[in-house]
Amino acid sequence: MEIAGFRHLYSGKVRELFEPIDPDLSHLVLIVASNRISAFDHVLEPEIPGKGANLTRMTNWWFDHIDFPSHRSEELAAPAEIADRAVVVKRLEMYPVECVVRGYISGSGWKEYQQSGTICGIELPAGLQFGDRLPEPIFTPAYKAPQGEKDENITFEQTIELVGEKIAAALRDASLEIFRAASAIAEQAGLILADTKFEFGADPKNGELTLGDEVLTPDSSRYWDREQWAAGVRDQSFDKQMVRNWLSENWDGSGEPPRLSDEIVSISAERYSLLAEKLTGVRQ
Ligand code: ATP
Ligand code: MG
Repeated sequence: MEIAGFRHLYSGKVRELFEPIDPDLSHLVLIVASNRISAFDHVLEPEIPGKGANLTRMTNWWFDHIDFPSHRSEELAAPAEIADRAVVVKRLEMYPVECVVRGYISGSGWKEYQQSGTICGIELPAGLQFGDRLPEPIFTPAYKAPQGEKDENITFEQTIELVGEKIAAALRDASLEIFRAASAIAEQAGLILADTKFEFGADPKNGELTLGDEVLTPDSSRYWDREQWAAGVRDQSFDKQMVRNWLSENWDGSGEPPRLSDEIVSISAERYSLLAEKLTGVRQ
């Protein structure tokens, strides 16, 4: 993809990063969300219509509702042709830690708990069932591996080895605080925020700890319907779980994943827009 005035920097599985060609604006980055969907570390075919725009509007909505310094910048407008799925941000020095917070038990946390009774080395009460609420939200970081390698869960001690004690504590405290505030907001929208992942960086201008990347989207978080959860339903969600389930049923995990069915594509597209509508109150 070419965007006038910008130079391509990096392709992630889902997003593209660009930098302004103007050297006076080199402290800014343009993040463009595509309609691609990934699961089990593979980018799947085909794309999910409207996904990039819905992810972007959820991220922007959350940045408006979170009381923490964010990377969003007003210094430059995103180019009109991609404005609905792009944000201009301050370029941060990112910490290589995925700051995962879990308020409920599922996903890789459930797997580890079944084996050892812990998540990322944190001891949990015995007898938890899949999807249960944890006594309190826990910080379960992962090392953000360089491109192409798999991220891995780490302990808090390993986080300290990566970024030092002061930053590790700041990442943990900020993640837990933002998670608690976001959970309360999600609850008012009839949703449970089961878990999420934040990425932080340092603002090179003043060293300030700053929230980067996407925030509280269904690509970085698990959302459940509050009423269904209360009724005992544990396997429904607004995130990619349905796509993961479909892949597990239709693929043995070796080689390239199969092409998603038309049905799963349209259900996914609908889920992304339904979640965006539930959160923001606006149907698009
Ligand atoms: P994956 O495909 O596994 O998600 P990825 O995380 O590298 O890989 P994307 O999430 O699509 O790919 O791309 C976003 C990238 O931009 C991430 O590497 C993220 O750490 C980085 N990033 C996010 N916000 C900023 C920022 N303000 N400054 C610099 N880099 C950022
Ligand atoms: Mg990412």
